[in-house]
Amino acid sequence: LRSGVERLSDMIAESRTIVPFTGAGISTECGIPDFRSPGGIWTRNRPIPFDEFVASQEARDESWRRRFAMESVFAAARPGRGHRALASLYRAGKVPAVITQNIDNLHQASGFAAEHVIELHGNTTYARCIGCRQAYQLDWVKRRFDEDGGAPNCTTCDEPVKTATISFGQMMPDDEMQRATALSQACDLFIAIGSSLVVWPAAGFPMMAKNAGARLVIINREPTDQDDIADLVIRHDIGETLRPFVAN
Ligand code: NAD
Repeated sequence: LRSGVERLSDMIAESRTIVPFTGAGISTECGIPDFRSPGGIWTRNRPIPFDEFVASQEARDESWRRRFAMESVFAAARPGRGHRALASLYRAGKVPAVITQNIDNLHQASGFAAEHVIELHGNTTYARCIGCRQAYQLDWVKRRFDEDGGAPNCTTCDEPVKTATISFGQMMPDDEMQRATALSQACDLFIAIGSSLVVWPAAGFPMMAKNAGARLVIINREPTDQDDIADLVIRHDIGETLRPFVAN
């Protein structure tokens, strides 16, 4: 680990613009399970695709029941060492923004301005109408769910209300995809952290950065499909790896 961290430290010092790209692995030390590790969310629940959510009240009820069951976990989660290290580099002016697949709001909680967190897969700490995009607090959804005995619809347009996340089969957000593309192509160091790099199109950004001339670092406990194109692979715990970069 020591030599990996030393090389990473050199690469950070040599870089002007660093773009971190994060996945669920950066938040496991905060108590939020990832998807694909043993004990991950998918070993327990099949994901509900977007078209099923739209088509079926039963699917919407199930989706919201799962979300409410996770509320104590999301509400208690605080930024980990990885989040804090990235926030330190952000404050130092080396990191213009973070690209994340995570939906847990922990980059914002660690000190990134909301406009500098590019959420490719949305955010689970609030909800939106899938028709008119009106935002709702989760408390409101929970109250309506309990009173009506099921998932509520929008008070304005009567379309279903869903967590503000991107489900499988749902369109990727245009603006975020464009900003992530521009950042990936403009950085000189791209660091993929805690992602299995199997969910597309998000998994395309490391290669895009590499092709545009950036150096690529991958930090992940398990091997990923893109390790062979990386300039440095650190196959180790994220919190321990990034702890030296947390500024006090
Ligand atoms: P993933 O579960 O596919 O991969 C996570 C990777 O992180 C795994 O390869 C695992 O080995 C590694 N990992 C876990 N803990 C680690 C640690 N402490 N140190 C080093 N490596 C560690 O997750 P993904 O690639 O982000 O993609 C899946 C989707 O999961 C995303 O679309 C995202 O929206 C969603 N998701 C988000 C959260 C969250 O917001 N925290 C949690 C679960 C899933």
